[in-house]
Amino acid sequence: MASDILVIGAGVAGMKASLLLASAGRHVHLIESTSVIGGRLIRCEDIFPAMECATCMVSPMQQEILRNDLIDVVTLGEVLSVEGSKGEFRVKILKKASCVDPIACIGCAECWNACPVEKNNEFEENLSKRKAISVPCAGALPNVPWIDKDICLRWNGDENCNLCTEACVFEAVDYSDEDSESEITVSDIILATGFQPPPGKSFERFLWGSNPGVFTASEFERYYSSNGPTSGELLTKDGQTPDSAAVIVHAGGIGSYSNINTMYSLKFLHYLKEKLPDIHPVVLLDASYSPDKLQDRYHQEWRSADTDVIIYTQVPDVHTTKDGKSLSITCKTEGGSFSAEVDLLLLGTTMLPSSGTAKYIELLDIEGNEDGFAGNPEPDHSSVLTTVSGIFAAGCASGPLDIAASVTSAAAAVGRVLANSKGRVS
Ligand code: SF4
Ligand code: SF4
Repeated sequence: MASDILVIGAGVAGMKASLLLASAGRHVHLIESTSVIGGRLIRCEDIFPAMECATCMVSPMQQEILRNDLIDVVTLGEVLSVEGSKGEFRVKILKKASCVDPIACIGCAECWNACPVEKNNEFEENLSKRKAISVPCAGALPNVPWIDKDICLRWNGDENCNLCTEACVFEAVDYSDEDSESEITVSDIILATGFQPPPGKSFERFLWGSNPGVFTASEFERYYSSNGPTSGELLTKDGQTPDSAAVIVHAGGIGSYSNINTMYSLKFLHYLKEKLPDIHPVVLLDASYSPDKLQDRYHQEWRSADTDVIIYTQVPDVHTTKDGKSLSITCKTEGGSFSAEVDLLLLGTTMLPSSGTAKYIELLDIEGNEDGFAGNPEPDHSSVLTTVSGIFAAGCASGPLDIAASVTSAAAAVGRVLANSKGRVS
């Protein structure tokens, strides 16, 4: 029986699982599809509900992961195939070329400052640009850039471009770096591929994409973040300071709502209070989440956050005002109707399975549930089981979870793995 463990996804659940396994003396292969570890948590400034500093929580984990000899981190990595069964999974891994030597690189930024090629930065929800050689944001770990061959001039018509090499006095850029494949054998697999929000275009009915005052939750996280596109200044997308704001907690989109989505919208109010304290926001709730159905705490917090809470019976209509400067919101309520004009509209969103979750459900031949997350054969027994023995789902791979629950599920998955190895679980 093999003893190494494969963890797919280096978000908070994957990192926690890897660290716990390593502390138990197990060798971990941690595969991450992006160039950095930390997952969606590193896009946030603060963690709800206590509004703790996200970096303070995640940075020690990232650093411990990167220096732990028992954890092999494969960034820009992908699992190509898995054969075998519990106790002996044979796994083929692809490591995409970064074209930067991580040992020689000190993350000085000279190469991406020199690069002439720009495209929208997906990490920043396309609210800013990145270069063909880049890290996703300041403070990313590992703080090592990678070359995106899809847009780099050397692979797209100008093989003589070497501006990044010339800028790098540490000789860390290596155009000859190529994708590589390797094979490992592991006893168990932990799927920790997280979630993704619905795409912005699913909110076009609320003028997302056509009015600069409309933000999805993910966009607003980046605007609030000190390492985000506005260095943490809360502005509309055309650079104006808003005087008024509304939050549609249940803005629809794709997927079903959980209490986490409802609770998460409270974070917007903390953000507004922190940086725009003169704003008195309006909070719009779907009547199906009326106060008697909400956990009391959320509703009281909305009230105590100095807001107007409006419960609507029909999805709000949103239009740009005649002067083109603000947003007009109207909706029906149980008592009649409501209307307001605001500069800023924040849209609460659902949590969908990430593209990685969808991909690995298929590749690992495990069953998905009706929402597309990894299915659990015994919902009352354990939330980390999948339909394949020896493969466990941690964090949001199995459904929407908050950070505390993600960490707990990672520990549960590790417990299962360690129990498996002692022959206590079939
Ligand atoms: S590759 Fe070179 S220039 Fe670019 S960040 Fe690393 S050390 Fe600096
Ligand atoms: S080779 Fe040129 S285009 Fe490619 S990453 Fe370097 S500077 Fe940018």
